[in-house]
Order: sequence, then structure tokens, then C-alpha cells
Amino acid sequence: MKTVLFDESGIINLKMFGIEIPSLKSRKTNTLEALLGDSELNESKDTWLVVTNPYSIKREDLERIHTAEYVEKLYSEKVDVCIKNAFELEKPDGTFNRYNPEQMEAPLSELFNQVLKMSSGTYYAAIKALETGFCYYMGGGMHHGHKDFGHGFCPTNDIMLSASRIISEKKANSIWIIDVDAHKGDGTAEIAGDFDSIRTLSIHMAQGWPLDEPEYDSTGKFNPAYFPSDIDINIKSGEENTYNARLVKGMKQLENLNGIQERPDLGIVLLGADPYEKDELPSTDSLNLTEAQMLERDKIVYNFLNDRNIPAAYTMAGGYGSYSWEAHYNFLNWVLKKK
Ligand SMILES: [Zn+2]
Repeated sequence: MKTVLFDESGIINLKMFGIEIPSLKSRKTNTLEALLGDSELNESKDTWLVVTNPYSIKREDLERIHTAEYVEKLYSEKVDVCIKNAFELEKPDGTFNRYNPEQMEAPLSELFNQVLKMSSGTYYAAIKALETGFCYYMGGGMHHGHKDFGHGFCPTNDIMLSASRIISEKKANSIWIIDVDAHKGDGTAEIAGDFDSIRTLSIHMAQGWPLDEPEYDSTGKFNPAYFPSDIDINIKSGEENTYNARLVKGMKQLENLNGIQERPDLGIVLLGADPYEKDELPSTDSLNLTEAQMLERDKIVYNFLNDRNIPAAYTMAGGYGSYSWEAHYNFLNWVLKKK
């Protein structure tokens, strides 16, 4: 049985905080509307659509993956600074970046609460996947949240919050994280480095954010964007035609990391739509998969996990502008009709 979680209360509304990033609520609502516009899926919606999530994320969950200092800041008045840094709302010269505080309807501390609410959906998807084999969450994918700071719109890391909680609750002994978002899953790579039971694959743009600065700065300081995943696949501009073949090869390497074929108890997938050629975030211009390549990518990931009977939780991850929902819809329309 397949489940899709659409939890309206977990949708982050950046606009209400004066943040001008084209991460639109319509990506989720358009995807859902298109699915419900299909008569077959509409008739069966009671079997796959879930709209409430009973779980929440607590401080102890954050403490499993972040430093004590960072968690302390998130639960103090310094949360505003953490959020500003994570969403890059201020430039080094103090001017605002994609941010208009005059439009603010609620304080940034409330945005942190929304992030936690959103993150709880990823945990729901993981639990549901363990029970039923497949759950897709219309949210999640904050893979740039590091141990002691957030960036790339990610004050925390819902993927690692969920994976580490599942492990600590002994609901699974081993987890793979497969990240096909356009951006490298740098925070996930750093945090997962502390967990022997969690393996990571990230396929992403070779150039561009977060890999737009050198690995070491002029003082020799390591750039945390370069924390290695177990498998990193760097796609350069113009290499789109090799993308899916290299993804297959990477997943085979992931299952043979220890020299023998292994199978985890759970997969968590970041099915970002930002590699799509119609995605509108300027920083993803160097990776442009067609609609057909996107759907092929998603089928590759799904079939790889499904053929091995690996329960899998899917998150939406990145996707920006007016068209990214098409990629999410194409996958769900295919997977929900698949017998
Ligand atoms: Zn992304």
C-alpha cells in the first residue's frame, strides 16, 4: 500500500516572514490538484492520501544531530540570527538579501516552529514506509542543515533528524539516504559521518552553490560544503545525458560499499525537482534535465529500492518557481497507478 502525506499545517509560508524565495506553496497544492484531477486517482484517494500527521519534533531529536551550542541557540532569542543565516537574509555588508522585514506578519522564531512542524512529516514518512513499504511526503529535504549551523534555507536537517531518531528507536538498524536534489547534500553528509548505520549518496551539480567556493579558503580552513557523502556524483553543465546512467552506477556502488552486497532496513529519498530544466532558481541553471529524464530518474530510484524490497520514504526536497510541480506530479501519477 502506498501513502502520500499532504499536511497543510506543515507547509512553510516564507512570504509571511518577508522572505522572497520562490519556494511556493503552489508546488504542493498544484501537485495534489493534478493528482485529484485524475479520475482513477480521485476514486482511490481514500486508499493513498493522508492529510494529518500526529508526530512532532522535540529538542531531544535536534540534540542527536546538532551540537549542544547550536541547539541552545535555536531555543533562545538567538534563533533569529540562526534563521537569518540559514536563509541568507543579510549580506556581509548588512543589507538585506531576498528579505523585506516590512512584509513580516510573524517573528522569525515562528518560522523555526514551522520548520520543526514540516520536519515531522519526514519522520511520519519514514515510519509509514517501514509499515507499508512506501510513503511520499509533500515536504521535507532540508539537506543543507549542518551540525552547528544552517544554510541553504535549512536551519536544521529533517532527513537526519528522522534517520537518527529511527535508529535510536531501533525501528531500523541501517538506512540509506539517496539525494537526487540539484544541490549537494552537504549537511546530511557531515551529520551522517557520525552514524555507521547511515549511508549517503548525493548526485548533484558539480559547479555552483554550495560548491561555488574552494574546498579550503586562503587560511587553509575546510569548507563544510565538501564533507563527503559515501557516494558523491558531480554532474557538470552539459553532462545531463550521462546523469541517469551515473545514478544507476552510484546506487550499485552504494550497495557494495563494504565489498559485499548489502541491503538497508529503510531508504530515505530526496526527490528534488530543481534539476528540472523548467525550475526557476537561478543557482540551478547548470543542471537541466528534461521532463522525460526527470521521470526516468525517479523510476530508477524507485525500482532500485522496490526490486530489493527496501521500504522507502520520499521527500520533495528542492523545486522552485511555477513549473517544478510537474516533475513531482509525473512521478506520483506513475507510482500510484503502478500495481
Ligand atoms: Zn536543491
